[in-house]
Amino acid sequence: MKAHESQPLLPIARGEGVWLVGTDGRRYLDAISSWWVNLFGHGHPHIKAALVDQLDRLEHVMLAGCTHAPVVELSERLAALTGLGHAFYASDGASATEIALKMSAHYWRNVGRPEKSRFIGLEHGYHGETVGALSVTDIPLFRTAYGPLVRVSATVPSPDARAAAPGTTALEHARRCAQALQAHLDEHHAHTAAFVIEPLVQCAAGMAMHDPEYLRLARALCDRYEVHLVADEIAVGFGRTGSLFAHQQAQIRPDFICLSKGLTGGFLALSAVLTTDAVFDAFYDDDTARGFLHSHSYTGNPLACRAALATLELFEQTDVLAHNRATAARLSALAEPLTHHPRVRHARQMGMIWAFDIDSERSDFARRYHAAALEQGLMLRPIGRTLYFMPPYVIDDAASRWLVDGALAALAATD
Ligand SMILES: *Cc1c(COP(=O)(O)O)cnc(C)c1O
Repeated sequence: MKAHESQPLLPIARGEGVWLVGTDGRRYLDAISSWWVNLFGHGHPHIKAALVDQLDRLEHVMLAGCTHAPVVELSERLAALTGLGHAFYASDGASATEIALKMSAHYWRNVGRPEKSRFIGLEHGYHGETVGALSVTDIPLFRTAYGPLVRVSATVPSPDARAAAPGTTALEHARRCAQALQAHLDEHHAHTAAFVIEPLVQCAAGMAMHDPEYLRLARALCDRYEVHLVADEIAVGFGRTGSLFAHQQAQIRPDFICLSKGLTGGFLALSAVLTTDAVFDAFYDDDTARGFLHSHSYTGNPLACRAALATLELFEQTDVLAHNRATAARLSALAEPLTHHPRVRHARQMGMIWAFDIDSERSDFARRYHAAALEQGLMLRPIGRTLYFMPPYVIDDAASRWLVDGALAALAATD
């Protein structure tokens, strides 16, 4: 709040497609999809109509002992899309992480191996900020103050392609990092329940991208050492990296998938943890204590599920992934001046994510760039010195040009 003494809050009155409209009528291109949740633009008519229809039927009923069509249909569709046939619902990403961690450890307890209760995450990983999720979130700014509350997990080296040694490829770097994972598992597998990973892009780390080979090797190692593989697709799911789910680019099947953010197209708070028959079966018992107890009042909320169904319908009605490939190619071409800008390092792109590491001496680069971008009618929030674009999929050529021109002007204004 103190920072807002010099940078006033931005009062937003309306949203239309890729645009946010301030109470003063000024328009800002939402180039980060309101922190990665919005897929098809603000106020999308199809999602809005589904919500209005659902409001006329049922706003909410507890899912304990009850069921309803939106949650059944959503579960069946997610099962068909992922091959994981069981879903548990919560309302935010951090809770999905909590659920995956609890379910994995409880699974091992139920199968007679309670000592398997520890977790592994990637260096610079981000999985949310509740106390349990912080145990696998390796970002000191978010964790240090709560250190005494958190049972910190082991971290293994990130396959971040930028860290590849000079002369080595992203693929070779991924293989080297997988060897480090293997060394860790070799020593600690007996006490390890799960390895948690953001597949292909560690977004909160500053859009750190890695080769899919790492996921293939991690899957094989988790199989060999009997450790669950948890794919946190909260940020990268639903087409963001170019495939419907990021892990699909490695042709693997995780034991758990965490979904949130884009799941409802950015309309409502919903998250889901999907898992296998094997995990489900280990909890299926007359003894309540062997069941998965994670009570959540709004679990499977019908409105949120309808928003998610409407979002999935948009993927079915048009070939969103092909549309995004064309959009991404055009935006990448427009972004050439940024890619080759003398202050830019490691320009990178995957699907509908672009990232540029900026040369700046200033530790407050992100805050100052954000303010300069607002002057250009752009909502951008660099992470550290990484400027990134993660626009809604409906961005057109005119808006893409607005984005690149504004980003360059803001860069010129920010040392
Ligand atoms: C945003 C995010 C989360 C946390 O989601 P919240 O809804 O903000 O709690 C977890 N994992 C990843 C990869 C994320 O990007």
